[in-house]
Amino acid sequence: MSWTELLEFDRKHIWHPYTSIIDPLPVYPVESANGVRIKLAGGQEVIDGMSSWWCAIHGYNHPALNAAAQAQLERMSHVMFGGLTHEPAVHLAGMLAGIVPKGLEKIFFCDSGSVSVEVALKMAIQYWRAMGREGKTRFLSLEKGYHGDTLGAMSVCDPVTGMHTLFSGYLNHNYFAPSPECAFDEPCRDMHLARVRDILRGHGHEIAAFILEPVVQGAGGMWFYSPAYLKEIRKLCREFEVLLIADEIATGFGRTGKLFACEHADISPDIICLGKALTGGYISLAATMCTATIASGICSSAPGVFMHGPTFMANPLACSLALASVKLLLGQNWKQRIRSIEQQMKKELEPCRSIPGVRDVRVLGAIGVMELDTEVNVAAAQKLFLEMNVWIRPFLNLIYIMPPYIIEPGDLSRLTQAMAVAAKSI
Ligand code: PMP
Repeated sequence: MSWTELLEFDRKHIWHPYTSIIDPLPVYPVESANGVRIKLAGGQEVIDGMSSWWCAIHGYNHPALNAAAQAQLERMSHVMFGGLTHEPAVHLAGMLAGIVPKGLEKIFFCDSGSVSVEVALKMAIQYWRAMGREGKTRFLSLEKGYHGDTLGAMSVCDPVTGMHTLFSGYLNHNYFAPSPECAFDEPCRDMHLARVRDILRGHGHEIAAFILEPVVQGAGGMWFYSPAYLKEIRKLCREFEVLLIADEIATGFGRTGKLFACEHADISPDIICLGKALTGGYISLAATMCTATIASGICSSAPGVFMHGPTFMANPLACSLALASVKLLLGQNWKQRIRSIEQQMKKELEPCRSIPGVRDVRVLGAIGVMELDTEVNVAAAQKLFLEMNVWIRPFLNLIYIMPPYIIEPGDLSRLTQAMAVAAKSI
């Protein structure tokens, strides 16, 4: 089949993320990807500014990750995890327990970020049930929060942008606190916490956990909030006997300048969700980790087990890739790499503040964001970016980049220049 025919079939039969099957946005065929470059059919090479949605931190087609996948394929791609185990899972569990915020030593491997959120919510409910607190079955989360697209995850996403109206009648009723107004480098004041305190005081007895994205609210608006807020939330959760779930699916593995965003506030959650960059963007894998107290609590009363068990749980191929990806990250001076990406983005994006229509510019770690006054026309912006040989995909009123950590200064400048051009012409 020619690319014209393939695209025609794609248009008619295949759903892409959040698109219409009747009137889909254009998609561009990819032939291969290497380093920070994605090669489109026809040979055009574009610089990747997205890391395939936070995942491909080491770039594409990395020799060490390819070798890990190939070695594992020679042994086995998959075996069921019920009644069996394997080295990739055990080694990965050990490695993750050593690097996540302290105390999170029990791990549940699952397929995707959304599923790891479902697992976290179920852990919280089962834990309180085991403690004789059956009434604790609701959750508290943040406006502008995003935790995935499955039903439980959706029920803790922002109630306005998070599809609640569309699925009302089916989604659980949860509680929402305002998105923290204190920016990353601002202090957290009592007024920022007042609503959280009110909700916890009034409803703590029915709330199992507070789930949030630590420090960076991603898909809900690319907002960076004060670590001091997170520190206070940790205290409030203890005070009102509510578990804290940190969704580090997007922020984990160095993206914000710390290995995990919780480190900005020097806190440990009770449960953490990991995904995306876990396998360096090679294959889907996620994990939910919790403290020994929660794990033994869950298993200390009937039914005595944690009730979840996906078919592809701890897939050996995915675990080997995760192990190789985390080793690759830790084996280099990743902090310095992220810091230099951060400094360069700050220097090159800051002047864009003066472009009419640009409301805010913010940079944290290897995330650079330009917030506009109006919504971006995605199809037109994508076309414009491709004309500049870069791959940047805006959403809502945000043009943002989160490039692979291996990006060189020249390529990063091409991305920031393209953002400025787009802001001027949109
Ligand atoms: N939580 C956060 C913070 C995310 O950014 C995402 C993915 N965009 C998810 C959960 C859901 O992960 P997945 O798409 O792998 O289901």
